[in-house]
Amino acid sequence: MSQAGIHHVTAIAGRAARNIDFYTKTLGMRLVKKTVNFDDPGTYHFYYGDEAGQPGTILTFFPWEHAVPGRVGVGETEETSFRIPQSAVGYWTHRLLEKGVEADRAERRFGETAITFKDPDGMRIALVAVPGIEDEIGWTGNGVPIESAIRGVHSVDLLLKEAAPTGEILTDVLGFKEVGRDGSTVRFAAEGAPYGGVVDIHEVGDFLRGRSGAGTVHHVAFRADEAGQAAMAAKLRGEHRMRTTDQVDRDYFRSVYFREPGGVLFEIATDDPGFAVDEPLASLGGALKLPKNYEPFRSEIEAKLPELA
Ligand code: ZN
Repeated sequence: MSQAGIHHVTAIAGRAARNIDFYTKTLGMRLVKKTVNFDDPGTYHFYYGDEAGQPGTILTFFPWEHAVPGRVGVGETEETSFRIPQSAVGYWTHRLLEKGVEADRAERRFGETAITFKDPDGMRIALVAVPGIEDEIGWTGNGVPIESAIRGVHSVDLLLKEAAPTGEILTDVLGFKEVGRDGSTVRFAAEGAPYGGVVDIHEVGDFLRGRSGAGTVHHVAFRADEAGQAAMAAKLRGEHRMRTTDQVDRDYFRSVYFREPGGVLFEIATDDPGFAVDEPLASLGGALKLPKNYEPFRSEIEAKLPELA
């Protein structure tokens, strides 16, 4: 049985070059895969993560050069958070300032310190200080020292009308437990998940609905192994009367999608085969990787993709 927790978060961005620049050079994440949107091969799909691109460390983007800005509202992910060592709060406060990123004053949530800011497309990001993770693996290839580097996804915060229906899916199907409340936010945690073990639901009642676009999250994926994924999908259909897609092969994992009761698109993604399936660990993200069916059209696809520098 694989670990529970978030596998990856996928969002929509504007200009591809600016997106790469921010996530690698400012936040120091590793670009672990450069491929195209399998449903729209004229568009990139970037995956950022830790050195090995482990499940639970991954943030991915569909960058559209002329994407219209989205608006976060009910039925969407409001914020995506990453784990940083407790001792790195000062480092990140200083680094963001130095890189011209306007961060809010650090705040306390569920007893943890969070630094919040927006990426260049307006997507809300937080760095959450977690004690005792200094010795975990981090990626230092982009100049962030090991003692301060991001250690995977911390959580997503979902902005929803009601917490209970989505909470039921998280607890009954996805391996989470309700662990606390802070104001209008209910926290769910996947016990023992090394990364991505937290989902917060910010319950707001009737509120403006979101609009998809640059700076908004497209979907949140949760971890499973092959058998676990099949069991989760069967449970969603059988006991929760929800529709799921068939399994889709995403080359680096296999996915089942469903829209949870609060309106957010969820995915269940397998840990296998991972990002080292088509290029060596040492050079992850170096070359443009295409799914097999697009390989014969590589030159046309490459000619259409935007410049990255
Ligand atoms: Zn996904």
